[in-house]
Amino acid sequence: MKYELVVGLEVHCQLNTVSKAFCGCSALFGKPANTNVCPVCLALPGALPVLNRRVVEDAVKLGLATGCTIAPHSVLARKNYFYPDLPKGYQISQFEEPICSEGSISIDAGEGAREIRLIRIHIEEDAGKSIHDIGEETYIDLNRSGVPLLEIVSYPDMRTPREASAYLQKVRQIVKYLGISDGNMEEGSLRCDANVSLRPVGAEEYGTRTEIKNMNSFKNVEKAIEYEVERHREILEGGGVIVQETRLWDADKGETRSMRGKEFAHDYRYFPDPDLVPVIVDQEMLDRMLSELPEFPEARATRFATEYGIPVYDANVLTVERELADYFEETVRVSGDGKASSNWVMGEVMRTLKERYLDIAEFSLTPERLGGLIRLIGGGVISNTIAKEVFELMLQGEGSAADIVERDGLAQVSDSGAIEKVIDAILEANPGQLAAYRGGKTKLLGFFVGQCMSQMKGKANPQMVNEVLLKRLEA
Ligand code: ZN
Ligand code: MN
Repeated sequence: MKYELVVGLEVHCQLNTVSKAFCGCSALFGKPANTNVCPVCLALPGALPVLNRRVVEDAVKLGLATGCTIAPHSVLARKNYFYPDLPKGYQISQFEEPICSEGSISIDAGEGAREIRLIRIHIEEDAGKSIHDIGEETYIDLNRSGVPLLEIVSYPDMRTPREASAYLQKVRQIVKYLGISDGNMEEGSLRCDANVSLRPVGAEEYGTRTEIKNMNSFKNVEKAIEYEVERHREILEGGGVIVQETRLWDADKGETRSMRGKEFAHDYRYFPDPDLVPVIVDQEMLDRMLSELPEFPEARATRFATEYGIPVYDANVLTVERELADYFEETVRVSGDGKASSNWVMGEVMRTLKERYLDIAEFSLTPERLGGLIRLIGGGVISNTIAKEVFELMLQGEGSAADIVERDGLAQVSDSGAIEKVIDAILEANPGQLAAYRGGKTKLLGFFVGQCMSQMKGKANPQMVNEVLLKRLEA
């Protein structure tokens, strides 16, 4: 029998708010254990939570960006379970009335655009962290306790592992464009659980699903789902039944293993948190969040292509990340040349970033300086070859392009007299080649150009060199 894969994802996205969701503690990652804590996030008796306004605003932004319906009234609920890293014995989350519902995210896994529908986006808090790798004991760090999360739940609309990772990458791109999360998977700012099942091709009904946890990279999401598909297929083809359960992905072994039986919503005894008032989103907030939405990648790419006259492919590459798109636009503003700026950003800049494992945000060469370099090329002051040298010098922090060109005397020679003098000397020094050229070996033009450029240390205006050479050779 042929089976079809059905995947739905639950993504937890950590918000980059200054303070936690329900107290004033810092939400910063990487501080010494148990230093960002207070009575509220330690769950001391009598401490009362107050919802951080920024969390609501971020949820509304993400909801608007994904076409969700924003609830004017939503409710924070207690999700009760016991775990050592959860001192209250419940997680504050949303259950019956989430803040956002019924949106969609458009993905392209290589076969054209597809809409993945969203069931809901809700607000919740993170738990603390158990640390198992110090000696024999287990330690608890509660710095993360109460850090705000948005949980984004999709419909089971994905059909391949590639689609699942494309969807996750799209979620990451959206939260980064919105500026509400750093989207860093390694540091756990973006965590993803996958619900996976198989059904016979053509069937309407879903098969029994398993939930995979602990996939901390896009590659792992694909690998874990691929593994799980094969496991289901083998069981089904052997006449067995799938047990509904939660399974842990082990990246080192490349396999999933059973973690616990599947829990159901009623196991958590959800109820509205009596310590918290309902979340109200009024028209004023909606309008304000709408006005704060950035221009999204698709729209920006289309605008780049028309406004700056660059190929759609380039425009798409340049808008994958908001910071890169900003960098490009600033470069164009200074250089006044869209196509050249796109070539430099997609060429030298992206190559350097890749070689040095850098993010564009960490790149030391400012777009103002790159734009200045491109202006010098456009104005005929330096050639492309010299520009690459100047680019390297700028990377080493040696100042602006104009300063370097001035200091090192790199300006292009466009003085025809000087060029003619050099060319005449070269022709005189190479009578054999000259005769061969005039005898029909016109390919030797390249040889003469090369000689001239090397004698003038790459600084001769190449167009003039060509013109003068042709005139002399044909004489
Ligand atoms: Zn606190
Ligand atoms: Mn959750």
